[in-house]
Formats: sequence, structure tokens, C-alpha cells
Amino acid sequence: MSNESKRPARGCLFIVSAPSGAGKTTLCRRLIDISPNLRHSVSFTTRPMRAGEREGVDYFFVDAEKFSRMIAAGAFAEWAEVHGNRYGTAINTLEQWLESGYDVLLDIDIQGAGQLRANLAAGEGVFVFILPPDLAELRRRLEGRGTDAPEVIERRIANAQGEIQASSGYDYVVVNDDFETALNELKSIIIAERCRATRVLPALADSFSIHV
Ligand code: 5GP
Repeated sequence: MSNESKRPARGCLFIVSAPSGAGKTTLCRRLIDISPNLRHSVSFTTRPMRAGEREGVDYFFVDAEKFSRMIAAGAFAEWAEVHGNRYGTAINTLEQWLESGYDVLLDIDIQGAGQLRANLAAGEGVFVFILPPDLAELRRRLEGRGTDAPEVIERRIANAQGEIQASSGYDYVVVNDDFETALNELKSIIIAERCRATRVLPALADSFSIHV
């Protein structure tokens, strides 16, 4: 066996986007909990910390100057301004994890996903879009949270319609009507992607004398 074939296969990168209110955060958290090899990439943001959030767990919270320095230093795989704040995925940890064979989940907006779609090597990155069952349900969920003013809800719904248009550029779409069904679908996507021939065969090429 060559040294190359002893190395763990490179992990899969999952990029998940959704309009706000689709249930993405809860689904992603549960998915991480039940998937031992899947890690959540903690983004950097200039948004102020919300009650209950933790530094380094929910985000790395930085000021605008630090974020700008990181952009200038080329530290981000992608970054975008969302609802007036900047968010970015640092390349360092992402690369380390993928190289060590961990699968990585990025919970990012459609602009960041678009940048990765354009910049990642072919075949790297599995793009998943989570939809609510319909816009009326999205509105019910946003109103049910009780956290946003009516004008904020209207803005989020207007934004959602634009964001949903971007779903056609994704590889998979999961409709979050029933939570457990949606979670199972996400799990299935991860399992299927791990079995992709292009990911599995390079590690087995020597053992079976396969040319890949
Ligand atoms: P929130 O402030 O509610 O945590 O997140 C707002 C939006 O920013 C969500 O759609 C979330 O997916 C997105 N987001 C979080 N981290 C990143 C990131 O690193 N890059 C990009 N492009 N979007 C992000």
C-alpha cells in the first residue's frame, strides 16, 4: 500500500443555504449531533453577539477593522454582507478538517455559496438548499418566533423570495415541512455523497489495482 492510499480520504464539503425561517439552524445543529464525522465550520462575523450565543461556538465575533484585515490577508474562502453585517468562512480550519478526512458543513447565505460554486475545484462542494413548504408557512414561522418587528418580517419575506430563486443552482433541495423527514433527507445526502465513486475509489485504487 502506498503512503498516499493510507491517508484518510479528503472530507466532503457541504454548503447549506436557506431563507430565514426555513429551519436551517435547527436542522444543521441536529445533523451535526447525529453525524460523528461531520463538523460545523464556525464563521467570523461583525454582527453583535445575541443573548445565549458563545464566542467560538456560534461565531467568532470580530470588529469591522479585524474583518477587513482578514479580507485583505486572503483569510476567507468566501465572505458576504448579510442583513447589514459581514460574515466569512476562514480557509485555515476548513482546509485542515477536509485534509484530515472530516466532512464539513457550512451554513452560509446564497452570496457566499455562489462564490464557492465559482471558486471551488470541480466536484468539491455539495450544495444543499432548504425550503419551507410554502411562503405562507414561512410567514407563520417568522411571526411565531415573536422576535422580529412586522417590518423586519416583511423584509425577510421579500428577501426570501429572491433567495429561493437561487435554489435552482444547488445540487439538492430539502423541503422542511416535517422536521424529522427533512433531517433524514439531509442525512441521506451526506451518506450518498460519501459513497460517490470519485471520493471512494482513489483510496482503494492500490488495493484493487483500479485506475482512477
Ligand atoms: P445570523 O446572523 O442569523 O446568524 O445569520 C444570518 C445569515 O448569515 C444566515 O443566512 C447565515 O447562513 C449567514 N452566514 C453565517 N455565516 C456565514 C458565512 O461565513 N458566510 C456567509 N456568506 N454567510 C454566512
